[in-house]
Amino acid sequence: MSIDFNKLWEECIYDISKEMNENTLKTWISPIKVIAFNNNVLELQVPNEFFYEWISERYSLLLDSVVKKYFDKKTTIKYTIPENVKREKEFKKNIGIEKISQNINFIKKNFIDTQNISGLNAKYTFENFIEGDCNQLARSSALSVALQPQDNSFNPLMIYGGVGLGKTHLLHAIGNKVKEKYPEKVVIYIQTTVFVNQFINSIRTNSVQEFSKFYSSVDILLLDDVQFLIGKDKTQEILFFIFNQLHQIGKQIVLTSDRPPIELKGLQDRLKSRFTWGVTVNITIPDLETKMAILKSKITNGIKINDNLIEYIAQRVNSNVRELEGIMITAIAKTSSEHSLDIKTIQGIINNISSNDVEVDRISYFVAEYFKISIDDILGQSKQKDIALARKLAMYFSRKYTKCSLKTIGDLIGKRDHSTVIHAINNIETLVKTEKEIKHTVENINKEILKNLRNFKQNKKR
Ligand code: ADP
Ligand code: MG
Repeated sequence: MSIDFNKLWEECIYDISKEMNENTLKTWISPIKVIAFNNNVLELQVPNEFFYEWISERYSLLLDSVVKKYFDKKTTIKYTIPENVKREKEFKKNIGIEKISQNINFIKKNFIDTQNISGLNAKYTFENFIEGDCNQLARSSALSVALQPQDNSFNPLMIYGGVGLGKTHLLHAIGNKVKEKYPEKVVIYIQTTVFVNQFINSIRTNSVQEFSKFYSSVDILLLDDVQFLIGKDKTQEILFFIFNQLHQIGKQIVLTSDRPPIELKGLQDRLKSRFTWGVTVNITIPDLETKMAILKSKITNGIKINDNLIEYIAQRVNSNVRELEGIMITAIAKTSSEHSLDIKTIQGIINNISSNDVEVDRISYFVAEYFKISIDDILGQSKQKDIALARKLAMYFSRKYTKCSLKTIGDLIGKRDHSTVIHAINNIETLVKTEKEIKHTVENINKEILKNLRNFKQNKKR
């Protein structure tokens, strides 16, 4: 019998899905369960009271009309919540925490997208987060939290690391996983800068209490980039209060920061110490293999990109994953319009990004231009006189104008070992002294580089 109800309910969901986006459907419709259908009363179970108020305010007409269409013209809906949730509510009442449903006004005032207050981006998941030594601990801690948000041993979880290494990705992944496993939990992802602004607004509008009530009543708080709390003393105070409220009743808090908590100078000591109460994990820059795996994972549309090219890109980007991703996205966009991806295209893309290692490529590029040969010649194996000279000059100028090690320079210029690079540099230095023509060439290329690469001299000269 119940199978039939479920089938009918599936039809309803199908109709509803045409009326809202996927995220909203997932958040507000998927968690609804059909319990019974008797005497034209359809009993639908929703995860909690807040959920009920939310959907009845927004979707009751839609729900009424679809159930009338598929169940019976006279159907009415009765909403119930699970027994254990009722008990939890009692528990909350006893310790004086207000229900989140009393915060609808706050939500309306403070969240632009009131249909997705959780702030989660479905794009970032554990499934598409590539694991490597650089992030293994962070990933596994995040996953533990997501699977068992009520387990206190990781509370709070603090993830720190440089820009573009996947901290925000992991926060969303936690939120999305929790929503998948525990749809009834209230998860909030919030950027610290937004949190600060909401707080300032709440002062302005005399609603600080609403603000703290709202954040004290969530199940999981994902607060991104807490370094932006520095210098915001009042916000730190209210966060301290919220933190204690949540922590006391075992609600999960996850924080990220661009530096270790101990280096969050200008953050009140008591807050800093709270941040390290649970588990603190670091994300670092990925190694070559991990970078390659990440690049491969970002290839879409079934486009084929040669492994050598993937390696070529991975070797050249040493700072962060966002940059890797950017190169791949641009490359894919170019590939679909030009049909094939070659080293030149990649080269062009990389040239537009100015990280330190990439500058070895830019230098090689200028040298190649000067000799009217291609970058592939410089990277290749040809022993032809001009090409060999150009290659040596590329190494010489890379040494002069970048901070890259000899090994890196060798890796980037056709995978040569560092002794080849030393040899090349010495060779050029000798030639400059002994051969007028070479001296002239070096001076000209030097001028060219300085002219084209503004900021080069100030920043990079060793
Ligand atoms: P952060 O918050 O540390 O500055 P993000 O989480 O915004 O960095 O990551 C930057 C980009 O790199 C995002 O698009 C993210 O999906 C991607 N990214 C970072 N690390 C990984 C990884 N290990 N696997 C897949 N994508 C990653
Ligand atoms: Mg981030």
